[in-house]
Amino acid sequence: MAFLGNGYCSSGSEGEDEDEGMEGYRKGGYHAARPGDRFAGGRFVAQRKLGWGNFSTVWLAYDTLLNRFVALKIQKSARDYAQAALHEIELLSAIAKGDPTNSKNVVQLLDHFKHAGPNGHHVCLVTEFLGDSLLRLIRYNRNKGIGLSGVKEICRSVLVGLDYLHRELGIIHTDLKPENVLLVSTINPSKDPVRSGFTPILERTVSNQYSGSVISFSEKMLKMRARRAVAKISLRRESLGGVAAEMEKERSLDGISLKCKIVDFGNACWGSQQLAGEIQTRQYRAPEVIIGAGYSYSADMWSFACMAFELATGEVLFAPKTCQGCSEDEDHLALMMETLGKMPKKIASSGTRSKDYFDRHGDLKRIRRLKFWPLERLLVQRYNFTEPDAQGLADFLRPILDFTPENRPTAAACLKNPWLN
Ligand code: ADP
Ligand code: MG
Repeated sequence: MAFLGNGYCSSGSEGEDEDEGMEGYRKGGYHAARPGDRFAGGRFVAQRKLGWGNFSTVWLAYDTLLNRFVALKIQKSARDYAQAALHEIELLSAIAKGDPTNSKNVVQLLDHFKHAGPNGHHVCLVTEFLGDSLLRLIRYNRNKGIGLSGVKEICRSVLVGLDYLHRELGIIHTDLKPENVLLVSTINPSKDPVRSGFTPILERTVSNQYSGSVISFSEKMLKMRARRAVAKISLRRESLGGVAAEMEKERSLDGISLKCKIVDFGNACWGSQQLAGEIQTRQYRAPEVIIGAGYSYSADMWSFACMAFELATGEVLFAPKTCQGCSEDEDHLALMMETLGKMPKKIASSGTRSKDYFDRHGDLKRIRRLKFWPLERLLVQRYNFTEPDAQGLADFLRPILDFTPENRPTAAACLKNPWLN
Protein backbone atom coordinates (compact mmCIF):
# COMPACT_ATOMS: atom_id res chain seq x y z
CA MET A 1 0.00 0.00 0.00
CA ALA A 2 1.45 3.36 -0.96
CA PHE A 3 -1.06 5.92 -0.04
CA LEU A 4 -4.32 6.60 1.68
CA GLY A 5 -6.19 9.88 1.61
CA ASN A 6 -3.86 12.78 1.03
CA GLY A 7 -0.65 11.58 2.62
CA TYR A 8 1.28 8.96 0.77
CA CYS A 9 3.94 6.95 2.40
CA SER A 10 6.39 4.31 1.39
CA SER A 11 6.10 0.94 3.00
CA GLY A 12 9.33 -0.46 4.27
CA SER A 13 8.75 -4.07 4.99
CA GLU A 14 12.22 -5.37 4.62
CA GLY A 15 15.59 -5.47 6.21
CA GLU A 16 16.77 -7.24 9.31
CA ASP A 17 17.28 -4.07 11.32
CA GLU A 18 14.34 -2.13 9.95
CA ASP A 19 11.03 -2.80 11.66
CA GLU A 20 7.63 -1.20 11.91
CA GLY A 21 8.49 0.55 15.19
CA MET A 22 6.39 0.57 18.34
CA GLU A 23 4.32 3.71 17.65
CA GLY A 24 1.98 1.84 15.30
CA TYR A 25 0.90 -0.47 18.14
CA ARG A 26 -1.90 1.62 19.60
CA LYS A 27 -5.70 2.00 19.33
CA GLY A 28 -6.55 2.01 15.63
CA GLY A 29 -3.10 0.67 14.75
CA TYR A 30 -1.35 -2.69 14.43
CA HIS A 31 -2.39 -5.76 16.37
CA ALA A 32 0.42 -7.08 18.57
CA ALA A 33 0.51 -10.75 17.70
CA ARG A 34 2.81 -13.30 19.27
CA PRO A 35 3.90 -16.76 18.16
CA GLY A 36 1.22 -19.22 19.26
CA ASP A 37 -1.66 -16.72 19.08
CA ARG A 38 -4.80 -18.19 17.54
CA PHE A 39 -7.09 -16.54 14.97
CA ALA A 40 -10.49 -17.28 13.38
CA GLY A 41 -11.81 -19.35 16.27
CA GLY A 42 -8.47 -21.09 16.73
CA ARG A 43 -7.94 -22.29 13.15
CA PHE A 44 -4.83 -20.21 12.31
CA VAL A 45 -1.85 -20.08 14.67
CA ALA A 46 0.70 -17.25 14.34
CA GLN A 47 4.30 -18.48 13.87
CA ARG A 48 6.58 -15.50 13.12
CA LYS A 49 6.35 -12.10 11.48
CA LEU A 50 7.13 -12.12 7.75
CA GLY A 51 6.96 -8.44 6.95
CA TRP A 52 5.05 -5.24 7.40
CA GLY A 53 3.72 -2.26 5.54
CA ASN A 54 2.22 0.99 6.74
CA PHE A 55 -1.17 -0.69 6.87
CA SER A 56 -0.49 -4.10 8.26
CA THR A 57 1.83 -6.67 9.71
CA VAL A 58 2.06 -10.01 7.91
CA TRP A 59 2.65 -13.25 9.81
CA LEU A 60 3.53 -16.77 8.89
CA ALA A 61 0.63 -18.79 10.30
CA TYR A 62 -0.27 -22.46 10.51
CA ASP A 63 -3.69 -23.53 9.26
CA THR A 64 -4.69 -26.30 11.67
CA LEU A 65 -7.69 -27.28 9.55
CA LEU A 66 -5.80 -27.93 6.32
CA ASN A 67 -2.38 -28.55 7.92
CA ARG A 68 -0.40 -26.06 5.90
CA PHE A 69 1.47 -22.79 6.31
CA VAL A 70 -0.20 -19.59 5.11
CA ALA A 71 0.44 -15.84 5.30
CA LEU A 72 -1.81 -13.84 7.62
CA LYS A 73 -2.10 -10.13 6.88
CA ILE A 74 -3.41 -8.33 9.99
CA GLN A 75 -4.60 -4.85 9.03
CA LYS A 76 -4.46 -1.85 11.35
CA SER A 77 -7.87 -1.37 12.94
CA ALA A 78 -8.84 2.30 12.29
CA ARG A 79 -11.80 2.76 9.93
CA ASP A 80 -9.84 3.86 6.86
CA TYR A 81 -7.49 0.89 7.13
CA ALA A 82 -10.38 -1.51 7.60
CA GLN A 83 -12.07 -0.06 4.53
CA ALA A 84 -8.88 -0.44 2.49
CA ALA A 85 -8.66 -4.09 3.59
CA LEU A 86 -12.29 -4.76 2.60
CA HIS A 87 -11.52 -3.23 -0.79
CA GLU A 88 -8.45 -5.46 -1.06
CA ILE A 89 -10.62 -8.50 -0.27
CA GLU A 90 -13.05 -7.50 -3.04
CA LEU A 91 -10.26 -7.28 -5.61
CA LEU A 92 -8.41 -10.41 -4.42
CA SER A 93 -11.68 -12.38 -4.56
CA ALA A 94 -12.13 -11.39 -8.21
CA ILE A 95 -8.48 -12.26 -8.86
CA ALA A 96 -8.85 -15.73 -7.31
CA LYS A 97 -12.17 -16.39 -9.07
CA GLY A 98 -10.65 -15.64 -12.48
CA ASP A 99 -7.60 -17.83 -11.87
CA PRO A 100 -8.78 -21.19 -10.48
CA THR A 101 -5.46 -22.89 -11.32
CA ASN A 102 -3.45 -20.16 -9.56
CA SER A 103 -1.13 -19.70 -12.52
CA LYS A 104 -1.38 -15.96 -13.18
CA ASN A 105 1.38 -14.85 -10.80
CA VAL A 106 -0.86 -12.90 -8.45
CA VAL A 107 -1.10 -13.80 -4.76
CA GLN A 108 -4.05 -16.08 -3.95
CA LEU A 109 -6.57 -15.13 -1.27
CA LEU A 110 -7.63 -18.15 0.81
CA ASP A 111 -9.81 -16.68 3.54
CA HIS A 112 -10.62 -13.53 5.48
CA PHE A 113 -12.15 -12.65 8.87
CA LYS A 114 -12.14 -10.05 11.63
CA HIS A 115 -10.03 -10.33 14.76
CA ALA A 116 -10.80 -8.43 17.95
CA GLY A 117 -7.77 -7.29 19.93
CA PRO A 118 -6.83 -4.63 22.47
CA ASN A 119 -6.22 -2.08 19.65
CA GLY A 120 -9.58 -2.67 17.93
CA HIS A 121 -11.12 -4.90 15.27
CA HIS A 122 -8.63 -5.93 12.61
CA VAL A 123 -9.58 -7.19 9.18
CA CYS A 124 -7.35 -10.19 8.44
CA LEU A 125 -6.52 -11.70 5.05
CA VAL A 126 -5.23 -15.23 4.67
CA THR A 127 -3.16 -15.78 1.53
CA GLU A 128 -0.77 -18.40 0.24
CA PHE A 129 2.67 -18.21 1.88
CA LEU A 130 5.27 -16.65 -0.42
CA GLY A 131 9.00 -16.01 -0.17
CA ASP A 132 11.16 -12.89 -0.04
CA SER A 133 10.29 -9.66 -1.80
CA LEU A 134 12.29 -8.36 -4.75
CA LEU A 135 13.61 -5.63 -2.46
CA ARG A 136 15.12 -8.28 -0.26
CA LEU A 137 16.51 -10.01 -3.35
CA ILE A 138 18.15 -6.76 -4.47
CA ARG A 139 19.64 -6.25 -1.01
CA TYR A 140 20.68 -9.89 -0.77
CA ASN A 141 22.71 -9.31 -3.90
CA ARG A 142 24.26 -6.25 -2.20
CA ASN A 143 22.59 -3.81 -4.59
CA LYS A 144 24.77 -4.91 -7.49
CA GLY A 145 21.97 -5.90 -9.84
CA ILE A 146 20.86 -9.49 -10.27
CA GLY A 147 22.13 -10.17 -13.81
CA LEU A 148 20.16 -9.85 -17.01
CA SER A 149 18.94 -13.43 -17.25
CA GLY A 150 17.44 -13.06 -13.76
CA VAL A 151 15.91 -9.71 -14.71
CA LYS A 152 14.30 -11.27 -17.77
CA GLU A 153 12.88 -14.16 -15.76
CA ILE A 154 11.35 -11.83 -13.18
CA CYS A 155 10.02 -9.49 -15.88
CA ARG A 156 8.24 -12.41 -17.54
CA SER A 157 6.60 -13.43 -14.23
CA VAL A 158 5.46 -9.90 -13.41
CA LEU A 159 4.19 -9.27 -16.95
CA VAL A 160 2.04 -12.42 -16.85
CA GLY A 161 0.48 -11.04 -13.65
CA LEU A 162 0.02 -7.54 -15.06
CA ASP A 163 -1.48 -8.83 -18.30
CA TYR A 164 -4.01 -10.85 -16.28
CA LEU A 165 -4.90 -7.88 -14.06
CA HIS A 166 -5.12 -5.35 -16.88
CA ARG A 167 -6.61 -7.24 -19.80
CA GLU A 168 -8.70 -9.96 -18.17
CA LEU A 169 -9.86 -8.22 -14.99
CA GLY A 170 -9.58 -4.49 -15.61
CA ILE A 171 -7.57 -3.88 -12.41
CA ILE A 172 -4.80 -1.29 -12.04
CA HIS A 173 -2.40 -2.17 -9.21
CA THR A 174 -1.20 1.44 -8.68
CA ASP A 175 1.62 0.51 -6.30
CA LEU A 176 3.97 -1.76 -8.17
CA LYS A 177 7.43 -1.74 -6.55
CA PRO A 178 10.00 -4.27 -5.35
CA GLU A 179 8.37 -4.68 -1.90
CA ASN A 180 5.10 -5.66 -3.53
CA VAL A 181 6.44 -8.45 -5.73
CA LEU A 182 7.37 -11.60 -3.83
CA LEU A 183 9.41 -14.59 -4.91
CA VAL A 184 7.43 -17.80 -4.68
CA SER A 185 10.28 -19.44 -2.71
CA THR A 186 12.44 -18.02 0.04
CA ILE A 187 16.06 -17.15 -0.83
CA ASN A 188 17.31 -18.97 2.25
CA PRO A 189 15.82 -22.51 2.42
CA SER A 190 15.96 -22.44 6.23
CA LYS A 191 13.36 -19.65 6.18
CA ASP A 192 10.90 -21.81 4.29
CA PRO A 193 8.87 -23.68 6.91
CA VAL A 194 8.17 -26.59 4.58
CA ARG A 195 11.66 -27.03 3.12
CA SER A 196 13.29 -26.63 6.54
CA GLY A 197 10.93 -29.09 8.22
CA PHE A 198 9.81 -26.44 10.74
CA THR A 199 7.49 -27.86 13.39
CA PRO A 200 4.52 -25.52 13.76
CA ILE A 201 4.17 -23.72 17.09
CA LEU A 202 0.72 -24.49 18.44
CA GLU A 203 0.92 -23.01 21.92
CA ARG A 204 1.92 -19.60 23.09
CA THR A 205 5.40 -19.98 24.56
CA VAL A 206 5.86 -16.65 26.33
CA SER A 207 3.88 -14.53 28.79
CA ASN A 208 0.35 -13.53 27.78
CA GLN A 209 0.91 -9.95 28.80
CA TYR A 210 1.82 -7.95 25.70
CA SER A 211 4.80 -5.65 25.99
CA GLY A 212 7.53 -4.52 23.64
CA SER A 213 10.06 -6.64 25.45
CA VAL A 214 7.94 -9.78 25.12
CA ILE A 215 7.76 -9.31 21.36
CA SER A 216 11.46 -8.66 21.01
CA PHE A 217 12.23 -11.60 23.29
CA SER A 218 10.19 -14.05 21.22
CA GLU A 219 11.57 -12.62 18.01
CA LYS A 220 15.10 -12.94 19.35
CA MET A 221 14.40 -16.60 20.12
CA LEU A 222 13.17 -17.15 16.57
CA LYS A 223 16.13 -15.29 15.08
CA MET A 224 18.49 -17.39 17.20
CA ARG A 225 16.82 -20.55 15.95
CA ALA A 226 17.06 -19.35 12.34
CA ARG A 227 20.74 -18.43 12.82
CA ARG A 228 21.45 -21.87 14.24
CA ALA A 229 19.72 -23.48 11.24
CA VAL A 230 21.79 -21.34 8.85
CA ALA A 231 24.97 -22.21 10.76
CA LYS A 232 24.12 -25.89 10.42
CA ILE A 233 23.63 -25.54 6.67
CA SER A 234 26.87 -23.62 6.14
CA LEU A 235 28.71 -26.18 8.27
CA ARG A 236 27.46 -28.83 5.86
CA ARG A 237 28.60 -26.67 2.93
CA GLU A 238 32.06 -26.16 4.46
CA SER A 239 32.51 -29.87 4.71
CA LEU A 240 31.77 -30.07 0.99
CA GLY A 241 34.89 -27.99 0.45
CA GLY A 242 36.13 -24.43 0.20
CA VAL A 243 34.53 -23.78 -3.20
CA ALA A 244 31.01 -23.97 -1.79
CA ALA A 245 31.97 -21.57 0.98
CA GLU A 246 33.39 -19.14 -1.57
CA MET A 247 30.16 -19.35 -3.56
CA GLU A 248 28.31 -18.40 -0.38
CA LYS A 249 30.43 -15.24 -0.12
CA GLU A 250 29.77 -14.35 -3.74
CA ARG A 251 26.05 -14.72 -3.06
CA SER A 252 25.33 -16.34 -6.36
CA LEU A 253 21.66 -16.49 -7.30
CA ASP A 254 22.14 -19.91 -8.89
CA GLY A 255 19.62 -22.36 -7.57
CA ILE A 256 17.26 -19.64 -6.35
CA SER A 257 13.96 -19.82 -8.17
CA LEU A 258 13.02 -16.38 -9.47
CA LYS A 259 9.37 -17.13 -10.12
CA CYS A 260 7.37 -14.38 -8.45
CA LYS A 261 3.91 -13.02 -7.71
CA ILE A 262 2.33 -9.61 -7.30
CA VAL A 263 0.94 -8.77 -3.81
CA ASP A 264 -0.64 -5.81 -1.96
CA PHE A 265 -3.91 -4.78 -3.60
CA GLY A 266 -4.79 -2.36 -0.81
CA ASN A 267 -4.70 0.56 -3.20
CA ALA A 268 -5.56 -1.17 -6.47
CA CYS A 269 -8.60 -0.03 -8.43
CA TRP A 270 -10.90 -0.87 -11.30
CA GLY A 271 -9.71 0.71 -14.52
CA SER A 272 -13.20 1.36 -15.83
CA GLN A 273 -13.58 4.54 -13.80
CA GLN A 274 -12.23 7.94 -14.77
CA LEU A 275 -9.18 8.14 -12.57
CA ALA A 276 -7.29 11.05 -11.13
CA GLY A 277 -5.44 11.84 -7.93
CA GLU A 278 -2.12 10.78 -6.52
CA ILE A 279 -1.10 7.11 -6.68
CA GLN A 280 2.11 5.08 -6.54
CA THR A 281 5.16 5.26 -4.28
CA ARG A 282 7.33 8.25 -5.22
CA GLN A 283 10.18 6.61 -7.16
CA TYR A 284 7.78 4.49 -9.23
CA ARG A 285 5.30 7.28 -9.97
CA ALA A 286 4.41 7.96 -13.59
CA PRO A 287 4.72 11.49 -15.08
CA GLU A 288 0.98 11.77 -15.84
CA VAL A 289 0.27 11.20 -12.14
CA ILE A 290 2.71 13.94 -11.12
CA ILE A 291 1.21 16.54 -13.46
CA GLY A 292 -2.37 15.50 -12.64
CA ALA A 293 -3.37 14.31 -16.11
CA GLY A 294 -5.28 11.17 -15.04
CA TYR A 295 -3.97 7.65 -15.39
CA SER A 296 -4.78 4.17 -16.55
CA TYR A 297 -3.19 0.69 -16.85
CA SER A 298 -0.13 2.25 -18.47
CA ALA A 299 0.81 3.84 -15.12
CA ASP A 300 1.57 0.30 -13.85
CA MET A 301 3.77 -0.24 -16.90
CA TRP A 302 5.84 2.81 -15.94
CA SER A 303 6.40 1.40 -12.44
CA PHE A 304 7.21 -1.97 -13.98
CA ALA A 305 10.01 -0.42 -16.09
CA CYS A 306 11.43 1.44 -13.04
CA MET A 307 11.47 -1.85 -11.17
CA ALA A 308 13.18 -3.73 -14.02
CA PHE A 309 15.91 -1.07 -14.11
CA GLU A 310 16.40 -1.43 -10.35
CA LEU A 311 16.69 -5.21 -10.59
CA ALA A 312 19.32 -4.83 -13.31
CA THR A 313 21.42 -2.15 -11.59
CA GLY A 314 20.58 -2.45 -7.88
CA GLU A 315 19.71 1.26 -7.76
CA VAL A 316 16.43 3.11 -8.19
CA LEU A 317 16.01 4.74 -11.59
CA PHE A 318 14.61 8.05 -10.31
CA ALA A 319 15.35 9.23 -6.77
CA PRO A 320 14.02 12.81 -6.65
CA LYS A 321 14.76 15.22 -3.81
CA THR A 322 13.54 18.67 -2.95
CA CYS A 323 16.14 21.15 -4.09
CA GLN A 324 16.67 24.85 -3.52
CA GLY A 325 13.60 26.58 -4.88
CA CYS A 326 12.07 23.47 -6.41
CA SER A 327 9.81 20.70 -5.23
CA GLU A 328 10.33 16.95 -5.28
CA ASP A 329 7.84 16.77 -8.18
CA GLU A 330 9.87 19.19 -10.28
CA ASP A 331 13.12 17.41 -9.52
CA HIS A 332 11.40 14.14 -10.48
CA LEU A 333 10.25 15.56 -13.84
CA ALA A 334 13.76 16.93 -14.46
CA LEU A 335 15.36 13.54 -13.74
CA MET A 336 12.92 11.88 -16.14
CA MET A 337 13.76 14.33 -18.91
CA GLU A 338 17.51 14.00 -18.34
CA THR A 339 17.23 10.26 -18.96
CA LEU A 340 14.41 10.11 -21.49
CA GLY A 341 14.58 13.41 -23.34
CA LYS A 342 12.23 16.37 -23.28
CA MET A 343 8.59 15.74 -22.46
CA PRO A 344 6.37 16.52 -25.51
CA LYS A 345 4.75 19.94 -25.04
CA LYS A 346 1.28 18.49 -25.56
CA ILE A 347 1.79 16.08 -22.66
CA ALA A 348 3.55 18.63 -20.43
CA SER A 349 0.55 20.94 -20.69
CA SER A 350 -2.16 18.29 -20.25
CA GLY A 351 -2.40 18.11 -16.44
CA THR A 352 -4.18 20.09 -13.76
CA ARG A 353 -0.76 20.93 -12.27
CA SER A 354 1.04 21.60 -15.59
CA LYS A 355 1.08 25.36 -15.07
CA ASP A 356 2.81 24.96 -11.71
CA TYR A 357 5.78 23.21 -13.30
CA PHE A 358 6.03 24.16 -16.98
CA ASP A 359 6.20 27.45 -18.89
CA ARG A 360 4.31 27.96 -22.16
CA HIS A 361 7.20 26.49 -24.19
CA GLY A 362 6.94 23.23 -22.26
CA ASP A 363 10.16 23.86 -20.31
CA LEU A 364 10.43 23.45 -16.56
CA LYS A 365 9.99 26.83 -14.89
CA ARG A 366 12.49 26.45 -12.10
CA ILE A 367 15.02 23.88 -13.29
CA ARG A 368 16.62 25.34 -16.39
CA ARG A 369 19.82 23.44 -17.12
CA LEU A 370 19.22 19.74 -17.70
CA LYS A 371 22.14 17.34 -18.06
CA PHE A 372 21.03 14.76 -20.58
CA TRP A 373 22.21 11.25 -19.77
CA PRO A 374 20.30 8.75 -21.91
CA LEU A 375 19.46 5.33 -20.51
CA GLU A 376 21.98 3.41 -22.58
CA ARG A 377 24.88 5.71 -21.66
CA LEU A 378 23.83 5.58 -18.01
CA LEU A 379 23.97 1.77 -18.06
CA VAL A 380 27.44 1.71 -19.66
CA GLN A 381 29.09 4.59 -17.83
CA ARG A 382 27.56 4.32 -14.40
CA TYR A 383 26.75 0.63 -14.10
CA ASN A 384 29.50 -0.86 -16.28
CA PHE A 385 27.16 -2.70 -18.64
CA THR A 386 28.68 -3.90 -21.93
CA GLU A 387 27.40 -1.98 -24.97
CA PRO A 388 25.20 -4.85 -26.24
CA ASP A 389 23.73 -5.54 -22.77
CA ALA A 390 23.01 -1.84 -22.27
CA GLN A 391 21.42 -1.56 -25.67
CA GLY A 392 19.22 -4.63 -25.14
CA LEU A 393 17.90 -3.42 -21.79
CA ALA A 394 17.51 0.21 -22.91
CA ASP A 395 15.63 -0.84 -26.06
CA PHE A 396 13.27 -2.89 -23.91
CA LEU A 397 12.68 -0.15 -21.31
CA ARG A 398 12.57 3.02 -23.42
CA PRO A 399 9.16 2.41 -25.07
CA ILE A 400 7.62 1.56 -21.66
CA LEU A 401 9.01 4.83 -20.30
CA ASP A 402 7.25 6.86 -23.02
CA PHE A 403 5.92 10.16 -21.66
CA THR A 404 2.74 9.62 -23.68
CA PRO A 405 0.86 6.94 -21.70
CA GLU A 406 -1.03 5.67 -24.77
CA ASN A 407 2.24 4.94 -26.57
CA ARG A 408 3.52 2.56 -23.89
CA PRO A 409 3.32 -1.12 -24.84
CA THR A 410 0.84 -3.21 -22.85
CA ALA A 411 1.97 -6.11 -20.68
CA ALA A 412 0.79 -8.50 -23.42
CA ALA A 413 2.88 -6.65 -26.01
CA CYS A 414 5.95 -6.68 -23.73
CA LEU A 415 5.62 -10.44 -23.29
CA LYS A 416 6.08 -10.79 -27.05
CA ASN A 417 9.33 -8.78 -27.00
CA PRO A 418 12.13 -11.09 -28.23
CA TRP A 419 14.53 -9.59 -25.64
CA LEU A 420 12.61 -11.49 -22.94
CA ASN A 421 12.87 -14.87 -24.62
P1 ADP B 1 0.85 -3.31 3.20
O1 ADP B 1 -0.45 -3.02 2.52
O2 ADP B 1 0.79 -3.00 4.67
O3 ADP B 1 2.05 -2.71 2.49
P2 ADP B 1 1.60 -5.91 2.05
O4 ADP B 1 0.50 -6.74 1.50
O5 ADP B 1 2.47 -5.19 1.06
O6 ADP B 1 1.01 -4.91 3.15
O7 ADP B 1 2.53 -6.82 2.98
C1 ADP B 1 3.60 -6.27 3.72
C2 ADP B 1 4.84 -7.15 3.61
O8 ADP B 1 4.56 -8.44 4.18
C3 ADP B 1 5.32 -7.46 2.17
O9 ADP B 1 6.18 -6.46 1.66
C4 ADP B 1 6.04 -8.79 2.39
O10 ADP B 1 7.34 -8.58 2.92
C5 ADP B 1 5.20 -9.48 3.46
N1 ADP B 1 4.16 -10.34 2.84
C6 ADP B 1 2.95 -9.95 2.36
N2 ADP B 1 2.25 -10.99 1.85
C7 ADP B 1 3.03 -12.08 2.00
C8 ADP B 1 2.87 -13.48 1.65
N3 ADP B 1 1.76 -13.93 1.06
N4 ADP B 1 3.89 -14.31 1.96
C9 ADP B 1 5.02 -13.85 2.56
N5 ADP B 1 5.23 -12.56 2.90
C10 ADP B 1 4.25 -11.67 2.64
MG1 MG C 1 3.06 -3.25 0.65
